[in-house]
Amino acid sequence: MPLSTDQQAEIDQAREGATKTLRPIAPALEEILFQALPVLDHGFVRVIDYMGDDAAIVQAARVSYGRGTKKVSEDRGLINYLMRHRHTTPFEMCEIKYHVKLPIFVARQWIRHRTANVNEYSARYSILDREFYLPAPEHLAAQSAVNRQGRGDVLSGDEAAHVLDLLREDATRCYDHYAEMLNEDAAGEALDPARQGLARELARMNLTLSTYTQWYWKIDLYNLLNFLSLRADAHAQYEIRAYATAMLGTVAAWVPVAHQAFLDYRLGAVTLSAQMLTVVRRMLAGESVEQPDSGLNRREWAELVAALGFSDGKRGS
Ligand SMILES: Cc1cc2nc3c(=O)[nH]c(=O)nc-3n(C[C@H](O)[C@H](O)[C@H](O)COP(=O)(O)OP(=O)(O)OC[C@H]3O[C@@H](n4cnc5c(N)ncnc54)[C@H](O)[C@@H]3O)c2cc1C
Repeated sequence: MPLSTDQQAEIDQAREGATKTLRPIAPALEEILFQALPVLDHGFVRVIDYMGDDAAIVQAARVSYGRGTKKVSEDRGLINYLMRHRHTTPFEMCEIKYHVKLPIFVARQWIRHRTANVNEYSARYSILDREFYLPAPEHLAAQSAVNRQGRGDVLSGDEAAHVLDLLREDATRCYDHYAEMLNEDAAGEALDPARQGLARELARMNLTLSTYTQWYWKIDLYNLLNFLSLRADAHAQYEIRAYATAMLGTVAAWVPVAHQAFLDYRLGAVTLSAQMLTVVRRMLAGESVEQPDSGLNRREWAELVAALGFSDGKRGS
């Protein structure tokens, strides 16, 4: 359970304070506003605030005086067109603010996305919670033999149990030492009145990267979709992908038409190089093309095979 009773009570209280507004709202997103959507073992994503909806994208694209909406089908067609042709600025008119609780090693990948506004929980000012990420058994995988940035088969038996023990023990021991160096319990009382305790800004350097941190993260829809195109992709590390998948659900609730356009024209689409396109055209003309005479290197060829979904040995005829 990622939230304490007090934290859940604060969220419940915030959800009770409904206000009337002239601003457009996204009803499905209102349903989950402020609520923590669990991710990994102790993490979450929750939407704190947002601005705009599908109609705001249309409104900006048409620079209209009212809501900009014509027929739903016309709006859908326009949003699809904007997505397809990378007319991006109308998507920047929508903004969303998240509260995210995530392991520090995931935060390090995430923070590389520079187009968001971020405010992180201060471990100089406050004491981090005793919470570490421990992968579920099905995510405890070996190093991939073919991809240096990927995972291979799932570990099993004694090896899996031993790895989990090491992860748990190291994180626990480091946290215990952190608490000892701080000389402070969770309530701020001195553990040993005879000691001064090390400054929080120094003691934190002993924590493992699996320790959870938190931040507020605000971004416009265009840059959020860029983030999701990289981090909800099958090639992204599972742990950050788990967050991206949860956020994709919030995008579906917020801007359902833009979300579908994103799935159709970005996430589910592939880019073919000029050479790949030539290969496809040769195949469509009935030619049987093999990798050596395709003009593609082996990796590009494998990517084309995967993108087109044809089995090796059946490449046009
Ligand atoms: C599968 C994967 C593997 C990765 N491996 C590594 C790795 O091994 N090592 C590593 O260091 N990183 C790695 N990264 C991180 C990657 O290189 C990017 O830093 C990260 O994905 C953020 O992408 P971005 O710059 O497009 O995003 P953002 O920072 O959100 O920027 C969005 C866009 O804004 C523009 N932009 C933003 N800031 C600037 C700027 N200062 N100058 C010019 N244009 C700007 C660019 O067009 C950019 O594409 C990896 C990422 C992925 C998805």
